[in-house]
Amino acid sequence: MLIDFGAFKGEIGETRRWAWSGELPPLEAGGEEIPFAGPVEVAVEVTATGPGSFWLEGRARGSLVLTCSRCLERFAHPIEVTLAETCKMVAQEGAGGGDWLPVRGEVLDLRPELAREFFAALPMKPLCRPDCPGLCPVCGRPLEAGACGCRREEVDPRLAALRELLRDREDGSR
Ligand SMILES: [Zn+2]
Ligand SMILES: [Zn+2]
Repeated sequence: MLIDFGAFKGEIGETRRWAWSGELPPLEAGGEEIPFAGPVEVAVEVTATGPGSFWLEGRARGSLVLTCSRCLERFAHPIEVTLAETCKMVAQEGAGGGDWLPVRGEVLDLRPELAREFFAALPMKPLCRPDCPGLCPVCGRPLEAGACGCRREEVDPRLAALRELLRDREDGSR
């Protein structure tokens, strides 16, 4: 996923397109690795806006393997991200601004930028599906699998109230 700015002829307004389908390394999140479920599709359009200056627009689509926060099952979560960046060719190492991407040696590797965008798009609380029933509070088996035989309904009403309270707190984002 390399953009070769050397391909531009130097005319302002000149536009070039790139598209790839390829693997990205797993995202790093708090010492944990979040792998992609398959190849990532990327398409970008780059327009020359001035000497050594470019506008990059694009989108990328991929699925990440997340762990459901309720039932702890792993599932593929599709994510689509957009890119909108100013790119500037820079001569020396270390140059670069907060709001534009430095291009060194005419070639820009998009992968770190894509990893950043996918990371930013990760859900705070992953769910395999919005109404995932979670795990049985007694035996810990996924409720999805059907009746586990636990007598969950016959709990002390005071405990049930407490459980409701905890569930409300857990689902506070809704
Ligand atoms: Zn789930
Ligand atoms: Zn159970």
